[in-house]
Amino acid sequence: MEQKKQTELVCADAKRCGGCGGYRNSYEEQLAGKQRMVRRLLEGICPVEPIAGMYYPYYYRNKVHRVFGVNAKGRPVYGMYEEGTHRIVPVGQCLIEDRVCQKIIDTVWSLLPSFRIRTYDEDTQRGFLRHVLVRRGFATGEVMVVLVTVDITWPGSRNFVKALLEKHPEITTVVQNVNDRQTTFVLGERNKVLYGPGQIRDRLMGLTFSLSPASFYQINPKQTELLYRLAIRAAGLTGKERVLDAYCGIGTIGMAAAAAGAGEVIGVELNPAAVRDAVRNARENKLKNIRFVCQDAGDWMRQAAADGQKADVVILDPPRSGSTPEFITALAQMAPERVVYVSCNPETLARDLRLFGKKGYRAKKAWPVDQFPGTEHIECVCLLSKL
Ligand code: SAH
Repeated sequence: MEQKKQTELVCADAKRCGGCGGYRNSYEEQLAGKQRMVRRLLEGICPVEPIAGMYYPYYYRNKVHRVFGVNAKGRPVYGMYEEGTHRIVPVGQCLIEDRVCQKIIDTVWSLLPSFRIRTYDEDTQRGFLRHVLVRRGFATGEVMVVLVTVDITWPGSRNFVKALLEKHPEITTVVQNVNDRQTTFVLGERNKVLYGPGQIRDRLMGLTFSLSPASFYQINPKQTELLYRLAIRAAGLTGKERVLDAYCGIGTIGMAAAAAGAGEVIGVELNPAAVRDAVRNARENKLKNIRFVCQDAGDWMRQAAADGQKADVVILDPPRSGSTPEFITALAQMAPERVVYVSCNPETLARDLRLFGKKGYRAKKAWPVDQFPGTEHIECVCLLSKL
């Protein structure tokens, strides 16, 4: 059942935590502000459609993380890092994050004293538990709990997991991750599965994705589907096209295109772990018309253009810094009919669209999508076509 629409929830911790910019304005005002921003940045470059917001813009984040440490007085605390510092701010209830995940983390905290588990002190390097990460597949209900500890040795782990599962039967897997380095990264290299398969699955666009503790995955699946649908529709696939999915991550957009009737899809991604996930997920979804390359997208394009390769459609979804002149120049040489630019930063989108214009591509339309309510982030799909 759809929850009643509420747009006036206010976050009690916004000022202290700084994680999201806070829900300072009503959701309507947030959307209007994002719409204005995209229109202003793309003025004279591309017409902009009305932004697609969420019906219920809360608790949408499927991955929740808390630091477990000590405060200035050396007492155990858990929460989020205050922006730009290593001070841990306790969080009451976050309006962005999934409530099931938040409750599980609260339970982990409440169990610590009876199991004599100490939280980690970054200064003295004493203690055991450093972070807790919980991810939930919204479509499958599968829940993964990752307990990041400083040491692999944990004699009481079995009883701890048992107690946690008693309180949260919805948990489908528990993984201990070992991080013994002085680092700002949450996860270390080593995983030990304490319960279940060590992975969870989620479904997006009718496809199934397996996620391990470190896998990248879009954090707002509902809006992601909307974003991908817009991208696939803009790609205008008829069944024959050779499609490039550049900056493909774990290959979700490319796989959606492969399933939606592309002739052939090539995904290009720099991060080897993401490429490994992509290959595995394509196999598990029995998609035969997609392959992945682990390389810098600009380098791959330059080489492909020099080899005289062609593409009918290029989909690109670069990081916030946007694409590069090398990529865009090589793309123009490959002469695809259509380009679908999925952007998480309208400023770099505007910059790149100007360069596309010089290379013979006109931006036809942009569709903003509110992937991250309560934050300043704006996502857009933009269709360009060859002049
Ligand atoms: N399309 C994916 C991921 C987009 S995030 C999705 O929807 O889930 C942007 C991706 O670009 C990240 O996975 C990042 O690792 C990758 N990336 C960053 N710089 C890159 C480069 N120079 N070449 C290829 N991929 C790059």
